[in-house]
Amino acid sequence: MPLVDMHDMLNHAYRNHYAVGGFDLVSLDFLEAILAAAENCRAPVILSLVESHFDHYDFELAMAATEKAARRATVPVAIHYDHGATLDSAVRAINHGCNGVMVDASHESFPANVAHTRRVVEMAHACGVAVEGELGYVAGVEGEDAAKHPGEVEYTSVEEAKAFVQRTGVDCLAVSIGTVHGRLRGRPKLDIERLKRINEAVKIPLVIHGGTGLSDEQFHKLITSGVAKINYYTALADAAGERIRTNARADARCGYTGLVHGIQDAIRAEVERCLHLWGSAGRAAEVLVQCRAWQSVEHVIVYNVEGASDAQVEAMMARGRETLSRIPGVRRVFTGWAVQNSQKFRCCWLVQFAHEKVIESYRDHPDHTAFANQLFRPIAGDRISIDFAEVVRPLETMAANGRQRIHA
Ligand SMILES: [Zn+2]
Repeated sequence: MPLVDMHDMLNHAYRNHYAVGGFDLVSLDFLEAILAAAENCRAPVILSLVESHFDHYDFELAMAATEKAARRATVPVAIHYDHGATLDSAVRAINHGCNGVMVDASHESFPANVAHTRRVVEMAHACGVAVEGELGYVAGVEGEDAAKHPGEVEYTSVEEAKAFVQRTGVDCLAVSIGTVHGRLRGRPKLDIERLKRINEAVKIPLVIHGGTGLSDEQFHKLITSGVAKINYYTALADAAGERIRTNARADARCGYTGLVHGIQDAIRAEVERCLHLWGSAGRAAEVLVQCRAWQSVEHVIVYNVEGASDAQVEAMMARGRETLSRIPGVRRVFTGWAVQNSQKFRCCWLVQFAHEKVIESYRDHPDHTAFANQLFRPIAGDRISIDFAEVVRPLETMAANGRQRIHA
């Protein structure tokens, strides 16, 4: 179960002065290694999937594995969609199981960034999903060297940060204070004073992209100045690459499994180092108790039809699957007939919502109301509709009734 509300997870870190790692995964080796490290350190963790990596893997397949692994974990996990370019990609991310999305419109003008981010926030919050915005420009592309993507680092301004957070309603803010994506040439100079002033002005968790290459002391200063999420990938990719080169040197003829042998250990060791350094190690239990679990809802309708042939009903079902599955927060649309003819109700919808909040936003969505009023309700007079929340707490935590909850 331990999928946890990402807003709650980040606010716990922010209030308790530590940072959660947002680690990008690009393969099952990364997924397993990151989670093994979090389990070993009893740390909350964010599994991050970055749009710029989708040339390397199939997002939908990776999400199935990521969600399965997160639900199997015993430490709190959030699944984050990093550097999403459009509103549609954020909807797709949520419908495939992400409970945090980042809007990267930082290359746009300030008003355009505000407008774009605000649209994503309205959609995502109606699904219970946390949103990370970005202001200022962190050079480079996630997972690639900044040197390949030149461009001046554009520092986040304190005044703009305050206005941006007020106008967009983002849950956390990625800031540019001197880090760059990918490998660095020389030691970065961080503008910690600026970071402190931004933190004072916005009072929400801050995010750093481009964590690779910073010193222990620099991380410490970032975290004590409001950083509660650190995006981290390049050092993990380097550790894996180094292991592959070592394997190749040891046996020039080795095949794929020989080449990747041991890379999970290499990645895990680097993640564990970060979890200790950033203070998230040992925090799993309190996060699980104090943060809301991330629960899906099953919207169940059983019904009978009047005045329509089976073929007409199936056409209506097909239209429903197509229309409804595109609504933000809808994970899956199942339509079916009762297997036994003797049942009281012959037809069924099972619509899985990402989160309880989707009950309302789905009900009021124009595509849903149009479909329901024009195609479904006229022929399905006899029906029962119930929303069921998934039971996700493991047995041992059920006893902790009256649990303190965070609704910051
Ligand atoms: Zn980034």
